[in-house]
Amino acid sequence: MLNFAAKKIKDHLCDFTHHRPAYYAGCYHSHSNMSSRNIILGIESSCDDTSAAVIADGLLLSNVTASQSVHEEYGGVVPELASRAHQLNIVPVIDTALRRAEIEREEISAVAVTRGPGLLGSLLVGTSFAKGLVISRRQAACALIEVNHLQGHIMAHFVEPSPEMVEKGYIRGLTLADLPLRHPDFPFLCLLVSGGNSQLVVVRSPHDMEIVGQTIDDAAGEAFDKCAKVLGLPYPGGPWIDKLAKQGNPAAFHFAKPNIPAYDYSFSGLKTSFLYTIRDMLREQHLDSVEQLLELTPNLKEDLCASIQATVIEVLMTKLRLAAKDLGIKRVAVAGGVSANSGLRQAFVDYGNKYGAEVFIPPFAFTTDNAAMIAEAGYYKFLREDFCPLDAVPYAKTRI
Ligand code: ADP
Ligand code: MG
Repeated sequence: MLNFAAKKIKDHLCDFTHHRPAYYAGCYHSHSNMSSRNIILGIESSCDDTSAAVIADGLLLSNVTASQSVHEEYGGVVPELASRAHQLNIVPVIDTALRRAEIEREEISAVAVTRGPGLLGSLLVGTSFAKGLVISRRQAACALIEVNHLQGHIMAHFVEPSPEMVEKGYIRGLTLADLPLRHPDFPFLCLLVSGGNSQLVVVRSPHDMEIVGQTIDDAAGEAFDKCAKVLGLPYPGGPWIDKLAKQGNPAAFHFAKPNIPAYDYSFSGLKTSFLYTIRDMLREQHLDSVEQLLELTPNLKEDLCASIQATVIEVLMTKLRLAAKDLGIKRVAVAGGVSANSGLRQAFVDYGNKYGAEVFIPPFAFTTDNAAMIAEAGYYKFLREDFCPLDAVPYAKTRI
């Protein structure tokens, strides 16, 4: 079963089942495909989550993720440790994803893997594994597909999970109460906010995305994480700020808001403003540590969290509103790790109510890094036979 948008794209293609090329990468020979289904194995390893997912004929059958706790004591991701943890996790994670989907290695039509952006050492683990898998299947039908991680986050909006597999608990973080998932029509404006990126993207199709605004310094997630670190909260700090903000007053503090032209963002000044606010309070009260300050002032931590969260959300929504108005787009979506933030999700609901816009918010399971979104992006590329040669190398930084 193809999901709605995939069906639309498929209608525009020739009958690809009869015209598959024997691909140069040695990966595709239609006549030797053992399965009549289109089966995509997605692999994600760009940062500190090792994830694998299986999509069969457009339906997500499994999504398995191993997160890395090793970074907690360092207050941030340590690249070398991340690569090593991916090495440990990748085989069991992929094996579990295939087993849960009841798919044999020989049945895989294509391996879709995150090629970038991300940490190079981490990306090398996923891409090398994907290539190895494709090479091991050289005599049968198996293609390699590269996926841009940021496009993957946006394509999370098109994932169609199998209700049966959701019920079995094979799709990490999803329950039957989350179904059915809604998928946006094209075009739509997507606010992509994660630990490394903050962008406004006009999405015209799965293959046609244009960045119309982006951060000129820190990302929104980075701002949350850095402010959380000042407050002594564990890494990643975004979810902690979200939690504490619920008990705080969002109007307790006023932080400097960036004044950047057009649809671009900036969050480094906000972080500095947050630091200065705390520094001034320490001076006033003749204290030397943030820990003491937080201990002595009732609800200060909660108020700071609520205020910084409210400011980040206001900055994000102001540019989204401006871009949507100027571009005449009435359909808006949010994606990336920060889209898990409860305040931002509510801001999208409010935006929809106020401006009569159609709003799309992903289920929590598909907000932070996961392979379901990579398999989904790969699935659309598969339908176009948009394959990747085996000598492709990962990239650390890129635009969509
Ligand atoms: P990456 O940048 O590696 O693609 P993700 O897409 O997984 O990362 O997003 C991770 C970021 O999302 C982190 O900065 C984290 O703090 C942030 N984040 C996750 N949950 C929340 C939340 N509830 N509120 C705010 N930020 C959050
Ligand atoms: Mg991400």
